[in-house]
Amino acid sequence: MASYERFVQIGIALDPIHVGTGVARIGRVDLPIVRDPVTQVPKIPGSSLAGVYRTYVAMHCEEERQRKQGASSSGQQSQGRRKPYYPDCAGLGLDKNRGHCRQPDCPICTVFGFARGAGQEGGFAGLAAFTDAHVLLFPVPTRQGPMWVSCPMALDMIGFPVKGVCDDAVYVENPGNCLNLGWLLLETRSCAQMHDIKTTFQNLKILDFIQNRLALVPDRLFAHVVNSNLEVRTSVSINPATGAAEERALFSYEALPRGTVLVWEIIAKNPAHFSINGQSITAVSRLNDVYQKAAQAHDYLKHLGIGGMGSRGMGRVDVVYESQPVSPRTANCNSPANQGGGQP
Ligand SMILES: [Zn+2]
Repeated sequence: MASYERFVQIGIALDPIHVGTGVARIGRVDLPIVRDPVTQVPKIPGSSLAGVYRTYVAMHCEEERQRKQGASSSGQQSQGRRKPYYPDCAGLGLDKNRGHCRQPDCPICTVFGFARGAGQEGGFAGLAAFTDAHVLLFPVPTRQGPMWVSCPMALDMIGFPVKGVCDDAVYVENPGNCLNLGWLLLETRSCAQMHDIKTTFQNLKILDFIQNRLALVPDRLFAHVVNSNLEVRTSVSINPATGAAEERALFSYEALPRGTVLVWEIIAKNPAHFSINGQSITAVSRLNDVYQKAAQAHDYLKHLGIGGMGSRGMGRVDVVYESQPVSPRTANCNSPANQGGGQP
């Protein structure tokens, strides 16, 4: 039996997403978002995903628990667990009285791990691990309307290595005049394997209007295109006494725009390989159970969202594809359509 299994998740931002760095930075905006330190492309850290998934799965389990208790108290004897999953098993669990339950039959504490309690030994890392969520397709305004921009590095993450996207140009299905990606004007080139790429996106359940408006740029241009086209909002604090804008309280913050397509992975570890306080884990038994438990957060992610500024219409993500990785294949944008593609 396998020790682990990877599950690829693809989500579309229904609102702008602001996962902040927590510190102000001089130069860009007051509240910048998290970026990959090497590529400078914005991302959502896996730790943010893990925390949000944990909270939402705990909410879900708590709803189920209360429903079961409600059903059993109206008739048969009350059974099942007393301690609430939410908020106790959500969060950091460091509170003495309302901390993690740390039980091998708790779906939250087994799947997401638990902290070491006060005066207790050992924590548990959890059976689900989360990668960072990376930008797969990024919407950019052009004079032909919005285009969704990707690059070979991003496509690599869905198991689709593309070769031949090298020149300082934008690779589209039907090249013609120069195309502006925001302020950046680039020559257009054809990508012979655009059809294969579109098919892959179709398999990944990415919406048709995005598939029909694809543009590829080389890796080195991708960060520039993304960072030049982030949503930047400006807000001002209101003085509650006067009801007017507070002096010197204007601040700006950036966000991934609505329509950004993100990709991340959930890695499930085999519950049979772990034990908690010498007891085997009973809350989940198979790799797929671990993943299915984590995926219960997706409905909540679609409505409650991730990141900051949730009360200002930010953060909702619709997970459109949840499955195992697609089989790897390659495309070469320099070769004719009838020769390229296929297996590497
Ligand atoms: Zn628990």
